[in-house]
Amino acid sequence: MIIPILKQAQMRISRLDRTLITAIVLLSSMFPVELFPNAPPSQKGIDGQYSGKQGQVLVVKVPEAEEVSEVKGTFLERDILFFRESRANEPPGYVGLLGIDMQDDPGTYELAVEVKHGEQIKHLSYNVLVAKAKFAVERLKLPKDKVDLDKKSIARWKVEQAQVKQVLAENSRLKLWHSSFVEPVSGRKTGIFGSVRILNGKPRNPHNGEDISAPMGTDVAATNDGVVRLTVDHIFSGRGIFLDHGLGFYSMYFHLSDIVVKDGDLVRAGQVIGKVGATGRATGPHLHWGIKLNGARVNPYALLDLPFKNGASPADAVLTSVPEFTPAPLTVPAKE
Ligand SMILES: [Zn+2]
Repeated sequence: MIIPILKQAQMRISRLDRTLITAIVLLSSMFPVELFPNAPPSQKGIDGQYSGKQGQVLVVKVPEAEEVSEVKGTFLERDILFFRESRANEPPGYVGLLGIDMQDDPGTYELAVEVKHGEQIKHLSYNVLVAKAKFAVERLKLPKDKVDLDKKSIARWKVEQAQVKQVLAENSRLKLWHSSFVEPVSGRKTGIFGSVRILNGKPRNPHNGEDISAPMGTDVAATNDGVVRLTVDHIFSGRGIFLDHGLGFYSMYFHLSDIVVKDGDLVRAGQVIGKVGATGRATGPHLHWGIKLNGARVNPYALLDLPFKNGASPADAVLTSVPEFTPAPLTVPAKE
């Protein structure tokens, strides 16, 4: 009889322990101020879990009743900037878009979030499960002179790469986009986002956007409100537009035959910004549509599925003028 009694006692203790732990967890999530300022960082993933496939976009919500000075996350060394969003029938909080890059290795990673409220900083930790996506294998045949670049073209390409990298490194703090995203061209999407490209028999970088086939000259619309950060005529992407939608979110439109906006222009969702073409390295008229979210290359079509359809977003900026932006001087790689 002694043994069962002992067991019962042990069970009671462990139940008590669990109740205590639950109470502490609940308390710490209820109070915006840290309960134990000098305590070691909380257990990884304690505040929740998200999961998604390579190339997907996750909507992360941090519940927070009060308006705080800043909510910022870090995921695989990328900054995730959160914005305040209030929706009917939901507790108030902050929302961040987390992009899973098409080449992030499958696994579990931490999304660490800092909630700054005056002098107080609250740390939150989420687990993000990255699952493998199934990407197609794309075999392309192009004329040799379009594939193998001469020395002059390589030098040009490097300068272009540096220019793009520099522009995309800027995370403007103003959120310009809103809940409804627009498909830039309603053509036939080829579904080749993330596909492995084998060019004339040699493997190349995976395809970092989606291609939409459409007749030459078809209107190309901005997927959301934003600022034209850069218009280019590049060796591979041809005539292209980089739109900055704020908080580290950029959309790109390549191989255009014509560009009808200029650097610094403010554009609205659905506004025509260019025409479908086949400039740069393209086999025929199509739009290459790409998205970068805090540096992660995500499937642009993931945006159209985001659960913002009915979400009123009072934090959306009402723009009357173009936000200030001073790019750092362009670094040109040394000549070889
Ligand atoms: Zn493409």
